[in-house]
Amino acid sequence: MSFATISKTGTVAAASARLSDYGQACRSFSWEAARRQLNFLPGGGLNIAFEAIDRHVDAGKGSRLALRWIGKDNSVRDFTYGDLKSATSRFANFLNKLGVRRGETVFTLLGRQPALYVTALGTLKAGCVFSPLFSAFGPEPVEARMSKGRGVVLVTTADLYRKKVAPIRDRLTALRHVILVGDTSGPEDALDFDAELARVGDTYEVARTQPDDVALLHFTSGTTGKPKGAVHVHGAVIAHHITGQYALDLRDGDIFWCTADPGWVTGTSYGIIAPFTNGATLIVDEAEFDGPRWFGILQDQKVTVWYTAPTAIRMLMKLGEKPRADYDLSHLRFMASVGEPLNAEAVVWGVEAFGLPFHDNWWQTETGGIMIANFAAMDIKPGSMGRPLPGIDAAIVRRSADNHIEPVSDPTLTGELALRPGWPSMFRAYLDEDERYRKCFADGWYLSGDLATMDADGYFWFVGRSDDVIKSAGHLIGPFEVESVLMEHPAVAEAAVIGLPDPMAGEIVKAFVALKRGVTPSDALRKELLGHARRHLGAAVAPREIVFAENLPKTRSGKIMRRLLKARELGLPEGDLSTLESDTK
Ligand code: ATP
Ligand code: MG
Repeated sequence: MSFATISKTGTVAAASARLSDYGQACRSFSWEAARRQLNFLPGGGLNIAFEAIDRHVDAGKGSRLALRWIGKDNSVRDFTYGDLKSATSRFANFLNKLGVRRGETVFTLLGRQPALYVTALGTLKAGCVFSPLFSAFGPEPVEARMSKGRGVVLVTTADLYRKKVAPIRDRLTALRHVILVGDTSGPEDALDFDAELARVGDTYEVARTQPDDVALLHFTSGTTGKPKGAVHVHGAVIAHHITGQYALDLRDGDIFWCTADPGWVTGTSYGIIAPFTNGATLIVDEAEFDGPRWFGILQDQKVTVWYTAPTAIRMLMKLGEKPRADYDLSHLRFMASVGEPLNAEAVVWGVEAFGLPFHDNWWQTETGGIMIANFAAMDIKPGSMGRPLPGIDAAIVRRSADNHIEPVSDPTLTGELALRPGWPSMFRAYLDEDERYRKCFADGWYLSGDLATMDADGYFWFVGRSDDVIKSAGHLIGPFEVESVLMEHPAVAEAAVIGLPDPMAGEIVKAFVALKRGVTPSDALRKELLGHARRHLGAAVAPREIVFAENLPKTRSGKIMRRLLKARELGLPEGDLSTLESDTK
């Protein structure tokens, strides 16, 4: 089933969008012009923290609300840009006092707490490298990442320290300082975050970093295998800033809520940097997903721009609520999604439930920022990731007979999604994996590892990760297509599709289906779903087998781990499970 295009032509949203004419923006865009939107340090140099916070204060906006933190118990703490300038300066002074040198790495193992934001930006201010960890990681994933990243400082809580760090502390040979937030009943050598910050000055001369100096270390989600450490530089802020405007429609004074966990790249690029460089107010909710709570936050905080993920959207759909009728969401202007393919069904549900479509966008830890998006002023084709950001040259490529990478323009052909290197937030290395990094580039292209198609209008359609794509009886089947059709059935909340070896067909399609709340699994329903899939996809592409599952295994960033379903089916080793969400096992 294909969904009708959601036309933006003539709408208020399109007319007032930050990027109101896509074609014109593509023609006139230059990274140099994007750079000029930022201030650069007085006297030269580019530093993310300065662009995010200090320059607004210097421009007289110190009293503007930068961050509103909502605790699990609904308590609220507000921080102005001025407050964050002082707090991050204190953290930078503190790092200097500890003797932490430029280029050394500071890790956080924290939930969504104010100290995380202060640490991230204070670290960058001091010219050190920031690397966030998921607070739900167990000791092994913490050890693997901190050892690889040679973390010299860890900011965490006493409770997380006890559970996740104490068991492996003696193996973290680079670690020199543990800083605890809140309760300080930790190891003897632990430092107290609040007390230490109170002891140092609240002004700081921002480290004169250059655009190519390393700023961030982000580990990938580990959906397809062992997570890689992607290295990013201060110059990335140019891409964060401009994509915040173009793809998230961010404006000065917006109230922006990014629901991503701070432990992965979205939590930094769009959970910290882009909203601040664009002068927005960031809403941070300490609590985990909770449908009614989320609708309440959108209403009470008067959120104008909301950036979330398909898993969360599907969970909201599963609840069967009618937010538009029950909450005042009149302030909400723009909704976007990232992380996984966003099914057409979910885009259309957005219109019913919120009066606005979700704008899907595509990027990776490696790209550092949004690369392909459904822009505010552009018609949305539900199920498509949208079109490339102005300044980004994206193509569908294939390997030619003489082994060269060549773009294809035939919209029926599936190929690898590739980008021309050179945008400012492109990763500069996989930490300690030079060979792997080099293999991502060929014939002047960065190869993303994702398969997609591009239609005649230049819209990109996700097919699957190259590792997940199924080859069956001569067909190349993208799991997303099959999953989307299953999700169109009213009983289905989520679906994951894998290929299993078959002597006749090469591979056959097997689907795992999680049902909506209140729907009981039955043999009759299974047959109905098989029939539904066959009607829409044809027998060659439809699943041969459907099993019901209460939960699908997901990464902590909310991505379905198809490789794990497959390994379990085939009795193969399960591989690196460090990012597996524990309640989806
Ligand atoms: P790993 O590389 O360790 O296997 P990962 O690729 O899931 O993990 P991330 O960098 O967090 O790690 O995720 C990027 C990937 O997420 C993309 O390559 C793509 O497969 C998927 N993705 C992100 N956004 C979208 C989207 N809008 N539509 C489809 N897929 C998306
Ligand atoms: Mg990846």
